[in-house]
Amino acid sequence: MEEYIKKAAMILRKSKYAVAFTGAGISVESGIAPFRGKNGIWNKYEEKLFEINYFTEHTKEAWDMLFDGFYEATFKAKPNAAHFALARFEKEGLIKAIITQNIDDLHKKAGSKTVHELHGNASRLYCINDGNRYQVKDFDLKTVPRCKKCCVMLKPDFVFFGEALPEYDMLMSIKASSKCDVMIVIGSTGIVYPAASLPFQAKRNNAVIIEINPKPSVFTNEITDIFIPLKASEAMMKLESVYAANKC
Ligand SMILES: [Zn+2]
Repeated sequence: MEEYIKKAAMILRKSKYAVAFTGAGISVESGIAPFRGKNGIWNKYEEKLFEINYFTEHTKEAWDMLFDGFYEATFKAKPNAAHFALARFEKEGLIKAIITQNIDDLHKKAGSKTVHELHGNASRLYCINDGNRYQVKDFDLKTVPRCKKCCVMLKPDFVFFGEALPEYDMLMSIKASSKCDVMIVIGSTGIVYPAASLPFQAKRNNAVIIEINPKPSVFTNEITDIFIPLKASEAMMKLESVYAANKC
């Protein structure tokens, strides 16, 4: 294990354009339930709640369900050691961008600046009618939030089933994946498309893939060069300390 961490730190040190690709696994230690799996959101909420057609047709009912636990859990969550380590790596100039599948805002809360949010961000609200965006924290979510301009009921600014991915973030993610020489994949099992295509794209452009996942994923045997089978926080803390120790 130590050998893998050392090797990953060495590769990072030599990199010119390293990016991170993160999924639900990085936020589990912050108390955010993943959508899938044993304790997943899907076991607690009906999937239709996150379908755009259901939401637009039953906005009030959908919001009533969203208030009940989902938003509370999301906003109580705090970044963990893995988010903070990535933010420090970016500050040092080592990580150029984070591509994330997560909507929990934890990378930005940890201080990361260049974050491409493939699936949007739950801390914002969006007006389907006129495109205005708002911060959730400016609303009392006990009542359905409405657009301050046109009064239409707002939608959480994350991607629902049946919606396209945000164009700009997708474009920037494709660019970063094509340009990077190292991609650190953290906490993504690689089953959600099109997001999961990005590490494959990085590999096609000869990037070294470092993967941090407690268990092997679809990436592991296909494209991963260095597999670190640890929880995100443990792996990132080790990686950061080995990287710092060998800096000079
Ligand atoms: Zn509006």
